[in-house]
Amino acid sequence: MQCTRCGSEKVIINRKYSGQMLCSECFIETTRKKVMRDIRKYGLIERGDRVLVGLSGGKDSIMVTDILDELRNRNIIELEAVTIDEGISGYREDGVRIARRFCAARDIPHRVVTLKDYAGITLDEIMKNPSRGACTYCGVFRRWILNREARKSGATKIATGHNLDDECQAIIMNYLEGNLENLTRIGPMTSTAGGKFIPKIKPLREIPEREVGVYVLARGLDVHLAGCPYASGSFRREIGDFLKQISVKRPTIMYSTLRGFDKIKETLIRDMDGTRKSGTCVSCGEPSSGRLCKACTFIHELGVNEDEVHSDHR
Ligand SMILES: [Zn+2]
Ligand SMILES: [Zn+2]
Repeated sequence: MQCTRCGSEKVIINRKYSGQMLCSECFIETTRKKVMRDIRKYGLIERGDRVLVGLSGGKDSIMVTDILDELRNRNIIELEAVTIDEGISGYREDGVRIARRFCAARDIPHRVVTLKDYAGITLDEIMKNPSRGACTYCGVFRRWILNREARKSGATKIATGHNLDDECQAIIMNYLEGNLENLTRIGPMTSTAGGKFIPKIKPLREIPEREVGVYVLARGLDVHLAGCPYASGSFRREIGDFLKQISVKRPTIMYSTLRGFDKIKETLIRDMDGTRKSGTCVSCGEPSSGRLCKACTFIHELGVNEDEVHSDHR
């Protein structure tokens, strides 16, 4: 086996969907170029942007920060990172440590915020008596916290490490659940609803999860590898397993899922026009389609004592 680009014998990956076999250096270079090309193609970043990255310490968020750091070094953007501690004991601590070390080594401004301060409750406490799946709470609260943190620091974009697998899972899940409203929000950059919503960008949207793993290994980056203890048995996990399984024989299936979806999305948005409501939450002031946003609805449902919410975050 030889690298199809440089002829090196040290091949580390066989990209079945493109037929390329690549050595470590060529893999890193082509992957970075692919991400930069997508950033340009979808207009994810403009010169002067202040980008806040949600850094969990996992492979996806470490990789996206590693790549965005190049744009910072070229003085194209400002970059800062925030780690959300959901309060999952025995799990989150390692991720926080890795995120801290990564940012310190590169002088990237970094802060850790907790779900406890923001919502008055930890995920562990929620999961003692949950009425929904852990991922539902976690996803809603994370988006809510990231948007509030971005507004606070004057960020113009929020970057996340969502990869190709994540995006396909979201597409298939929402199809199967018939959730058209959610489908219209999937994409490389979320559409803006009102002035308070900071655009969210996904620079790794076209990078398969497996390649994110190969990338952090090839770059020698330390990442938090443990999976979330609450994720097993989730609907998302089941869909993810299914997609991985059918990709073995059909290596291009995730790309065709993505391309097909991107084509119908515009029609879907036009079709839904008028039914998508936008307003602000009466409790926290964040964008919301109803009187209360989802995060505030959950806080209310969970019966959190108002005194538990950190005064800065009321
Ligand atoms: Zn090579
Ligand atoms: Zn709210």
